[in-house]
Amino acid sequence: MRRSGRTVMLHQQGAVVGSGDEGLEGAAVGGGELEAFRDHGVTIFVRRDRVWLPMDLTLTADEQAFRDEVRAWLKDNHPGPAPSGGDQVQFEFEREWQRQLHAAGWAGISWPREYGGRGATLIEQSIFGEELARARAPRPANVLGLVMGGPVVIAHGTTEQKERFLEPILSAEEIWCQGFSEPESGSDLASLRTKAVADNGGWRITGQKVWTTFAHEAKWCMLVARTDPDVPKHKGLTYFLMDMEQDEVEVRPLRQITGEAEFNELFIEGAHVADENVVGGVGNGWMVAITTLMNERAGLGASAALGLANALDELVELARERDLADDPIVRDKIARLKIGIEGLRLGAMRSLTATMKVGTPGPEGSIAKLQWSSANQALCELALEVGGMEVLRRDSLWAYRFLRSRANSIEGGTSDVLRNIVAERVLGLPKLR
Ligand SMILES: Cc1cc2nc3c(=O)[nH]c(=O)nc-3n(C[C@H](O)[C@H](O)[C@H](O)COP(=O)(O)OP(=O)(O)OC[C@H]3O[C@@H](n4cnc5c(N)ncnc54)[C@H](O)[C@@H]3O)c2cc1C
Repeated sequence: MRRSGRTVMLHQQGAVVGSGDEGLEGAAVGGGELEAFRDHGVTIFVRRDRVWLPMDLTLTADEQAFRDEVRAWLKDNHPGPAPSGGDQVQFEFEREWQRQLHAAGWAGISWPREYGGRGATLIEQSIFGEELARARAPRPANVLGLVMGGPVVIAHGTTEQKERFLEPILSAEEIWCQGFSEPESGSDLASLRTKAVADNGGWRITGQKVWTTFAHEAKWCMLVARTDPDVPKHKGLTYFLMDMEQDEVEVRPLRQITGEAEFNELFIEGAHVADENVVGGVGNGWMVAITTLMNERAGLGASAALGLANALDELVELARERDLADDPIVRDKIARLKIGIEGLRLGAMRSLTATMKVGTPGPEGSIAKLQWSSANQALCELALEVGGMEVLRRDSLWAYRFLRSRANSIEGGTSDVLRNIVAERVLGLPKLR
């Protein structure tokens, strides 16, 4: 449908189901009545049992000005390629980059202004992520603090917690890690066994965590522990901010298939957490943990699609160099990847529209995570096929990407578990259990 010169489409569950205008209001579609309202300058159609989302892919003048500002800033301030010299050198480079972003007001742009952010709209966040990907800018060092820790403190923290924790996250002065997974509790997070016992105005934590990314750099850990073993498993959990700089916390690095030691095991023997570092209240850890995970998946989207599109361009170049650009099988695989990446980008725009309407990211973030991980793995596999022995060298970027991509279908929720979420919570299929 056309309105104010802008194209608006009507979507349901990923498919274009038609177009319409204000005359649609009150119409019955698929057994449900449509109601229209305006939000952020677009018309949203809502049915009682489903959300009908018009997707508007054009930018307003303000949004274009925002994009130009980001693009110009990145052009003048891009730090260049990451230096070689190992994990620590790379991390310090990313920390310096985040300081630079923060000084210019570009760290945590989605956070409200009162907490040091930029109060950016969801569309601006998406533009910002896309521009970073387009410029091939490095990631900021404190990515877990920016994407999960800060938003969780903003959503569930006390005033004192907001004052204490938010600014050092933005400036990368204090790095955060996420202590959720345990040796026997990964996908089934609620079964975790690390326990917290009340102790003299605080808590003593004992247990083991695993796969804890950046624990070796972190000052604070978002940690979920069991505070009540006698209630149903989801209800006995509490969310703590644990100081990593204490003798009772031992961090042991785990070396990945890439050769990097990005994540760790945590051995915790009676570590102290003050009462004031409980987030969301004792016994509410499950609810706070879910906010953390939804923010983790909501962070993926248009920028992930653009990152993949960059890599696909490089793959096409590789195919040309190897005289395989006309090979029908290679062409077919590249075309499939291109379609998948475009699907991811459009799906991200749809999720943005839904989040604008509902206020918080929903379970649809799981679809983007699934699409991104399978596309990235397929892309890296094709690069090895096209590049042959030469790209299998230890120092080759494609070999690194291929090896790193193996974790994509595990980290941030395995693909099997995400498919369950999509089936049950997005598509509304019956639950097995
Ligand atoms: C690179 C990387 C970084 C990570 N960083 C962190 C971090 O910083 N903090 C943190 O807490 N964790 C982190 N993790 C851990 C990650 O969240 C877990 O690995 C993941 O949730 C899976 O848990 P698990 O490894 O215990 O596997 P399990 O849960 O034991 O799963 C084993 C297998 O069973 C399947 N499975 C399990 N349950 C179901 C089900 N209900 N239906 C169908 N299939 C099922 C899984 O898909 C998988 O194939 C990281 C992992 C990786 C790879």
